[in-house]
Amino acid sequence: MIKGNQLYEGKAKVVYETDNPDELLVYFKDDATAGNGAKHGTIDGKGVINNKISAFFFKQLKDRGVKSHFIETVSAREMLVKKLDMIKLEIIVRNIVAGSLVKRLGLPEGTPLAVPVIEYDYKSDELGDPMLNRWHIMALNLATIDEMNQIEHMSLATNTIMRGILKAKNVDLIDFKLEFGRFNGEVLLADEISPDNCRFWDTETHEKLDKDRFRQDLGGVEEAYQEILNRLTM
Ligand code: ADP
Ligand code: UDP
Repeated sequence: MIKGNQLYEGKAKVVYETDNPDELLVYFKDDATAGNGAKHGTIDGKGVINNKISAFFFKQLKDRGVKSHFIETVSAREMLVKKLDMIKLEIIVRNIVAGSLVKRLGLPEGTPLAVPVIEYDYKSDELGDPMLNRWHIMALNLATIDEMNQIEHMSLATNTIMRGILKAKNVDLIDFKLEFGRFNGEVLLADEISPDNCRFWDTETHEKLDKDRFRQDLGGVEEAYQEILNRLTM
């Protein structure tokens, strides 16, 4: 595989072309943002850790029937993936109330939800990622009903699989964000699965082991990311 031109630089990753038109190289940066880019910083070593955690989850999901863009880990910060036609949605799955749901539903952080809740956000930095429902998604031609059904099925399966893996490591999966794309007409899981886009709490102490430590200036950010990697892989 030969690394080609830079295709895109985002907030947390850089995407490069390769000599294969169907494959991309994703480089994980240490940069961190919060509040739709309002807060900027770096989390030392985050890129290396998120590359490892994402590869771990994508492999576990593949073994259990959830297909993703992941091909292989190439270096400490680089992952080879299938080039997808990205669906401009962020799919959020929630098991326990946290973050924006506290205000929206008026429930205290930590309240369990009776069933997992799926939300859609429009992936648009200009608009601040507004929440959408299925009607908006159809009206904007972002995805078909069939694709939304597949996305919801794969998101709930991902939730069940991740919860099981994490529970055995004494970690509760509070909520997380996924992205999907199309490859030869098939919907595949994409992007990353890491403490940047999941909320992980220690089951006993409820200590936050994710990006909320950065968002809320709680300190111990690098240590929390490393702790999740250690628990998953040691
Ligand atoms: P953002 O765009 O939100 O700042 P990142 O810094 O994480 O995000 O950049 C990664 C970009 O690559 C995102 O826009 C994401 O949608 C996109 N992406 C992730 N996986 C793939 C893939 N397999 N094919 C094409 N694009 C992808
Ligand atoms: N999330 C994300 N990117 C976003 C918005 C949310 O990865 O642009 C993740 C976030 O890490 C959390 C879940 O989605 O695990 C739910 O986030 P919430 O809507 O509560 O976001 P907040 O308002 O707290 O950013």
